[in-house]
Amino acid sequence: MHHKLFYKDAYITTFSTRVLQQNSDESGHHYVLLEETAFYPAGGGQPHDTGTLNGVQVINVEEIDGEIRHFIQDPLPNTKNEIQGEINWERRFDHMQQHTGQHILSAAFEELFNISTVGFHLGKETVTIDLDADITEEQVLAAEEKANTIILANLPIETKWVSSEELSQYPMRKQPSVTEDIRLVIIPGFDYNGCGGTHPDSTGEVSAIKILGLEKQRNKVRLEFVCGKRVLRQLHQKHQAISKLTELLNSPEATLAAAAERLLNKNKEMEKAAEVAKDQLLSFEARELIKDNCNGAVFKSYKNRPVQDMQRLARIITAEEDNLIVFITAENENGLQMVCARGKTANGSMKKIAAAVLPEINGRGGGSDMFAQGGGEAVISGEQLLERLQKELK
Ligand SMILES: [Zn+2]
Repeated sequence: MHHKLFYKDAYITTFSTRVLQQNSDESGHHYVLLEETAFYPAGGGQPHDTGTLNGVQVINVEEIDGEIRHFIQDPLPNTKNEIQGEINWERRFDHMQQHTGQHILSAAFEELFNISTVGFHLGKETVTIDLDADITEEQVLAAEEKANTIILANLPIETKWVSSEELSQYPMRKQPSVTEDIRLVIIPGFDYNGCGGTHPDSTGEVSAIKILGLEKQRNKVRLEFVCGKRVLRQLHQKHQAISKLTELLNSPEATLAAAAERLLNKNKEMEKAAEVAKDQLLSFEARELIKDNCNGAVFKSYKNRPVQDMQRLARIITAEEDNLIVFITAENENGLQMVCARGKTANGSMKKIAAAVLPEINGRGGGSDMFAQGGGEAVISGEQLLERLQKELK
């Protein structure tokens, strides 16, 4: 463990060391082994560090078979001299805040409600924990408040290496998964945990915890939260979104939801009114077409008319005039469309007429004796299609 500088002092950001070995793994990724390192390898839910070795980017750090592999962008020159390592501290300290915040929040759920944490993920934007029991909104708020009280109390965070015999002296929440070289992370009087991650010296450095949401899953609840600087980042993002909305809805923040609800309701009413107006227009149009009928049949060709309109028109006409037959065609962007309909007392099979005409436009369609429709390619005009339907009717 002596080569792991991050266990000696989690605040080391720069260090001098020597290269033990350079090598490539099976996938051809180049890595360096060092005499000592402050680079934390991925583990225990905490992501790996990044940084530089003599100015060369360290892009990944993994501990494999007891060696800490520093994957670097370009090989280092072979030298016995000391080299300089530098940790990306912004990234590391963020991980320390999120990771330690998770310890505190999980301990708060244990202490207040005896609910255990069974999963943990430290993501780029937010952090999640999985709790093994259903929880209420009130419990979430209570745990968040408890966690923030612990942060504000600025309690020390201590680490101790113990043997499994010594472990019995501590009120552990959960037995560690390892049996030797057990590393205890202790927030006195609050939390005793086996953990190999990096932590700040006191809870105050976590700064704050804010729970962002909870998602109920089969046998557990997933809680999303942020700690430290991420709380400010979240606040900034949410503030920007709200500012934009207060401007758009012309409403102060406190009544924003009500303003949005009013707008949505108004929109629904307008949609309904537009629907009614459209029906009235179609009825009016249908009456004009009925007036212009030619020996018991209505023929009409449109350009760019939605099929829904054509169907509605045909249905209105045949509902009002039992003895009429209606043929409507339209030249639309995607080809030629047609609707054929007849009233209850008119004669002829619309299905048969459509079937006879559709092959001429390489079309497809179908329907019943009363109502049929179809569409195909615009190889002839809408007027010509009407003529073909007329001929078929005779
Ligand atoms: Zn930890």
